[in-house]
Amino acid sequence: MSELVQKLFSESDLTDIEFERLLSSDIFDVELRVVADGVRRLYYGVDVYVRGLIELSNYCRNDCFYCGIRRSNRELERYRLSREEILTCCGVGYELGYRTFVLQGGEDNFYNDDTICEIVATIRKLYSDCAITLSLGEKSYQSYKSFFDSGANRYLLRHETADAEHYVKLHPAEMTIDNRKRCLFDLKQIGYQTGAGFMVGSPYQTVQNIISDLRFLQELQPAMIGIGPFIAHHQTPFQFFKNGDLKLTLRLISVLRLIFPYALIPATTALGTIDPYGRELGIAAGANVVMPNLSPVNVRKKYELYDNKICTGEEAAECRHCLEKRIASVGYKIVTDIGNVKEKIKK
Ligand code: SAH
Repeated sequence: MSELVQKLFSESDLTDIEFERLLSSDIFDVELRVVADGVRRLYYGVDVYVRGLIELSNYCRNDCFYCGIRRSNRELERYRLSREEILTCCGVGYELGYRTFVLQGGEDNFYNDDTICEIVATIRKLYSDCAITLSLGEKSYQSYKSFFDSGANRYLLRHETADAEHYVKLHPAEMTIDNRKRCLFDLKQIGYQTGAGFMVGSPYQTVQNIISDLRFLQELQPAMIGIGPFIAHHQTPFQFFKNGDLKLTLRLISVLRLIFPYALIPATTALGTIDPYGRELGIAAGANVVMPNLSPVNVRKKYELYDNKICTGEEAAECRHCLEKRIASVGYKIVTDIGNVKEKIKK
């Protein structure tokens, strides 16, 4: 094994210069993948956890330059799911074996804190053996706390980029990396299993930016880390930028597995969008979660974060079976399990 990969495996860390060497070349990729897969098996065996993704609303008050549901996209037909529709999605998902529901949406103030709390409390009561994950963007400490007290367990909020100068290039001035980070630390403090992450190959991203992302994640110590390639959306200011790279994304999944052996790392829909086998490759590189879509089929195309998003035409059951086969084809197994984060094994 090369010294670099050996060191990352045994110390779960490298210097910035070493990370730069590892990330800037593909010569370490095969051994990185093999070692990352070994670590993943040590913690999670061949189990792959599924999270049923329910896309609540594509209304958003934000205007992120990369995102297809940004408020300035006037071409997009907007929708929001009713409380009843959300509960129906959970019912369908439960029957299919999902034990985690992820409620994600644009930052849509139509759902005030009381509404969210009431929906969370109802799901908590109906499906007491399930985890409830929220992904509703930036909120106050008090809002996060009230959702948690109503029964939510996990929260996904990608930091997008940890570098302040890069953050400004991806977001309008009213959004700041400081607030993003504040949210993430609040979530952890409240007791959520917290997820952060970033896009790979977002416009203007440098290797140094990615290293800053790794350093920020080391500081935050999240339970979940979501990364996926940037993919251009034709109605955004970034429509002409090129998509993130498959190989670099896979390399980063392996690197994340070695830095954070216990982490829950999804093979994302964006990864499956840039390559027909992207999700299988992601699982083989060290990811251990997939997030199939549970949203009603008639709204799926409208939750268009980027162009050509996959799985927008199938019923939830088809999605579930398709993924089961895909995951099995590379030697792993989708399990019916709440899929909580494992404790760190002391070396
Ligand atoms: N409003 C919620 C959900 C955002 S959508 C929040 O703020 O967390 C979920 C993720 O999709 C984002 O965090 C972003 O990293 C990713 N995403 C958005 N646009 C994208 C694009 N063009 N390409 C790839 N990923 C994108």
